[in-house]
Amino acid sequence: MNAPLVDTFARIHDNLRISVTDRCNIRCFYCMPEDNVEYVAREEILSFEEIERFVRVAVSLGVTKLRLTGGEPLVRKDLPVLIRKLATLPGIKDLALTTNGVLLARQAQALYDAGLRRLNVHLDTLDRERFRRITRRDDFEKVMEGLDVAQRLGFGPIKINAVAVKNLVEPDIVPLVRFGRERGIEVRFIEFMPLDAQGLWSRENVLSAGEIIETLSREISPLIEIPDRDPRAPATEYRFADGIGTVGFIASVTRPFCLNCNRIRLTSDGKLRYCLFAIEETDVKGLLRGGAPDEEIAATIRSTVQKKWIGHEINTGKFVAPPRPMYAIGG
Ligand code: SAM
Ligand code: SF4
Repeated sequence: MNAPLVDTFARIHDNLRISVTDRCNIRCFYCMPEDNVEYVAREEILSFEEIERFVRVAVSLGVTKLRLTGGEPLVRKDLPVLIRKLATLPGIKDLALTTNGVLLARQAQALYDAGLRRLNVHLDTLDRERFRRITRRDDFEKVMEGLDVAQRLGFGPIKINAVAVKNLVEPDIVPLVRFGRERGIEVRFIEFMPLDAQGLWSRENVLSAGEIIETLSREISPLIEIPDRDPRAPATEYRFADGIGTVGFIASVTRPFCLNCNRIRLTSDGKLRYCLFAIEETDVKGLLRGGAPDEEIAATIRSTVQKKWIGHEINTGKFVAPPRPMYAIGG
């Protein structure tokens, strides 16, 4: 086993997020443009074999946790084939998928059979009309059906990801969390980040974790922070004082967690990123397609991690949004 992937701030990187496509079947306004979406050409997208090879090298450097994302990962053809390859790779302790849930009901069985258990389903609201406004598609029922099927099949843990946008989702917070408590699903609120394709983000549009905690504590039951469940996980978790359920907060804007970051990201077109907000990317597709030996790929991963900055600068005047929006990076 090689030395772990440590950056210049002594952070160990064992977590790889892999975007399997930049395509998506819905159009959330905080991520994608409404139309004229620019996608990466199909031949630029990494094959399953290329992804698997990259993961093997990353595992040799201490990566143990994988999350597949996108775009919408379930629009990638034959995704269960990749899941099976990755789920059985020696050294992988944790494999998860982030999905918008639209195609989940149809694919859940095949994903389960391939070895997937951990799911994050993106759902901001239980209101069909608001779902349509946010996603510009009318697929609310499909997502709910996807959740039903996934729970019936025994996926777990299942979490719901909800993007916290001010002056929009306030009416959804309490119903969504009540639904989660009834169903044994943790809802995780992700503060709206400046990664949307249309430049709509502003600080005033961020519904903060603090505001949500206040609402939930008042309307449902007081929230108590769960201390140090996993200090390197981005979400801060809280349990309800009445003993029913937990909620999580990914408060990238108001409570940045960069100092504990353990992640690297591979885009669908084979670029390695040390941060969601990074401006620079390292090309690994060229290495994978150009016959580079594993050692060279490993050295490239190491040198990318070495370049990692201390953290994003959303809260300073110096912040510059990355050139690609969320769907193209892989959320
Ligand atoms: N399509 C899948 C989905 O929606 O879950 C996976 C990719 S999506 C980019 C990953 C996550 O990013 C989603 O759960 C969504 O909640 C989150 N997201 C997208 N745009 C965001 C933004 N501007 N700020 C915060 N979270 C965002
Ligand atoms: Fe698609 Fe996910 Fe982006 Fe929504 S957040 S547009 S579901 S990639």
